[in-house]
Amino acid sequence: MTNAIDDVFAPGGPIELTLSGFEARAGQVQMAQLIERGFLEGMHTIVEAGTGVGKSLAYLVPALRSGKKVVVSTGTIALQEQLFQKDIPLVARALNTTARITLLKGRNHYLCKQKLERMRSERLLASSRTMQHLWEWGARTQTGDRSELPFLPPGDEWEQLDADADDCVGEFCEHFRDCFFFRKRDEAKFADIVVVNHALFFLDLAMGGGLLPPYDFAILDEAHQCERWATAALTATLSRATVGRMMRKLHRSYALPVTFDSDFERGIRGLESALARVPGDRYPLHANEEASPALESLRETLFKLENWLYANWHDGLKKRPQNDAEAERRRDLAMRSILAHQATIDRAQAPADTAIAWVERSESDARYQINSAPFDVADFLRAALFERTPSVVLTSATIANGSSVEHGAFDFLKRSLGVAEAQELVAPSPFNYPTQARLYVAPPELNPKAQDFARRAAPLVEECLDRSRGRAFVLFTSYARLREVYALVRGRLSFPIRLQGELPRTHLLEWFRSTPNAVLFATGTFWEGIDVVGDQLSCVIIDRLPFPSPGDPLVQARIESIEARGQNGFDQYMIPSAIVRLKQGFGRLIRSRSDRGLVALLDGRAASSRYGAIILDALPPASRISHLDQLTEFFGE
Ligand code: SF4
Repeated sequence: MTNAIDDVFAPGGPIELTLSGFEARAGQVQMAQLIERGFLEGMHTIVEAGTGVGKSLAYLVPALRSGKKVVVSTGTIALQEQLFQKDIPLVARALNTTARITLLKGRNHYLCKQKLERMRSERLLASSRTMQHLWEWGARTQTGDRSELPFLPPGDEWEQLDADADDCVGEFCEHFRDCFFFRKRDEAKFADIVVVNHALFFLDLAMGGGLLPPYDFAILDEAHQCERWATAALTATLSRATVGRMMRKLHRSYALPVTFDSDFERGIRGLESALARVPGDRYPLHANEEASPALESLRETLFKLENWLYANWHDGLKKRPQNDAEAERRRDLAMRSILAHQATIDRAQAPADTAIAWVERSESDARYQINSAPFDVADFLRAALFERTPSVVLTSATIANGSSVEHGAFDFLKRSLGVAEAQELVAPSPFNYPTQARLYVAPPELNPKAQDFARRAAPLVEECLDRSRGRAFVLFTSYARLREVYALVRGRLSFPIRLQGELPRTHLLEWFRSTPNAVLFATGTFWEGIDVVGDQLSCVIIDRLPFPSPGDPLVQARIESIEARGQNGFDQYMIPSAIVRLKQGFGRLIRSRSDRGLVALLDGRAASSRYGAIILDALPPASRISHLDQLTEFFGE
């Protein structure tokens, strides 16, 4: 490092000379200074950087100046690609460094040459047109990365060819030296910056390492998603799909007696019918007393399978192994899958003091699965990440619960992720929210819990859309409510309208971006990871304050655990979670200095309750309006 970091961002400095139209922003420079200090002095850093601060340059400049190995993890593919293809090369050019950069994905993104070869030697013809495409692509790809494919292969077909760890014998494989995944992992070993996604980052932590090369510093962007991804990495699942996957893998390597398939089929059917006896799509496992015998029957079959494998680990293999070591490796891989299922059953039946087991029914195929996860990831992250890595940066546009670090803006984040100490900064957005955005909150008598809510909300939805001339997302917390309101307004609107589910998500977004005055009715999943720049999205209507569902077993367990410590679960968990989510909405609406838009919150409790005031206070400072006719001038009618 030759000069101070401020000089890099200063007028006439390297960033301005490389990026035409670059404007230095105080928040960006402050953020970069703080992160660099954290790297030099071994401190964690938390920064909320409002939309438009330019947070990626603010962390990439110190990362590339550090000369250390830095892992940058993001929640969405869009950001990962932006960093890898645009931002990192730009900063490297500006700083005139030849730093090596790698984008590393999870194993199942890569093709396994061994599986492809074996499949092609076993069959003359591909089992489907998709498989035929995969074979052809497999013969010519240089990277083995499935993102090269012009289509997303169905999960069950791709699984037969992916580089999943459970099927990989590593150095015993004849393709080990030119394996796509291992080549990429070696590249990451020698890289200065490794870009990954949160799924891989937290899975690596959960497995105690091995997926990522050792690193000096970690930067976690979109850090509001960390708790969710850490929980996912620690979640164990048992279902028809996981047992099916395990058996398909075993059949690929071993001449297994078919009785195992029928025994598992019987066991899974028994479990599914027991799980269906309690109503609801998501409920705690302990609410279902009949699940236990069904789980025991599955445990018995798993135990028999384990014994069979011990007895036939060598002679049961379909293909003669090179030596005993290879046969042992195959047995250990197979055993890992069996033991993981047994551990899930153990965890599901254990007393719920630190973990929770719950049942989930999938919307797409109405199948059940049992999940179990620790409801608090703070202890795990403290030990696995924050106490081991000298400097971790957590950043996002939506992680603060207030505008002042002195008043504990990051308390919620620190508590949920297990950060003991950090330097903190709230860098506000440079956008002029009072001019660019309007916030309308429905009158107090409009309560989403009331029976007649849809009937009373529909005219407001209609008026908002008329005033914004469509160009809107109308977001609901449930499909039922979405359909109710849609049925009331659809005949009265003259804009092109679509509903979530009518097209795949990416196609719906393309439709929205390319259709003048489009309106999309969707649920909260459209809240995040969506970038519609310009006035095509000028209005976001939300049916209610987006609290986490109190009926969700994981949320319930988290609240109970907070209350067991003598604190208020609603204040400490529900309110901060709703703030983060609502701030995401503002982030979608205002993407540049020229964007303008309306957020309409149809939940009257926001205007009349103590918690409503706290939540509204934490939002960007849009001009609040109490009547929709105050929008006449704003939308230039
Ligand atoms: S090393 Fe593993 S992942 Fe790579 S080709 Fe061989 S079996 Fe497949």
